[in-house]
Amino acid sequence: MKMVKGSCNCNAVQFEISLPITDIYVCHCSICRKASGGNGVSVAVVNNQHFAWLTGTDKIKTWHKPNHDWVCSFCTQCGSNLPGKNDEQRMYVPVGLIANDDLAGAKVVHHMWVSSKACWHEIGDEGQQHDGFIG
Ligand SMILES: [Zn+2]
Ligand SMILES: [Zn+2]
Repeated sequence: MKMVKGSCNCNAVQFEISLPITDIYVCHCSICRKASGGNGVSVAVVNNQHFAWLTGTDKIKTWHKPNHDWVCSFCTQCGSNLPGKNDEQRMYVPVGLIANDDLAGAKVVHHMWVSSKACWHEIGDEGQQHDGFIG
């Protein structure tokens, strides 16, 4: 099948996924809002065996929020959010890194931390809404 490709804004970091993306999770928590500068972060979760870095792993920096389990990865050159470890078996992948052509058929299925979402943001899709985190 056609590989799903993703990259950061400066193209230094590139990766591919060997499976179509279907389900998108949006996290509305205050930490993700600061990280994105917007209304949250939208990610897909893929098994490790379907994910591969192509270039730029030397440009990846990971930041752990002190006293918290929140971790993010970003490109040290352009600052784009990057994929990271979701758990031992899976990666989370910010879907904004993937071109629309590779996301046909994908849709938001879950909204997390809706209880702390931005006051100005109205959720307008069919995704299920959760007050907290869902695994
Ligand atoms: Zn970059
Ligand atoms: Zn979050």
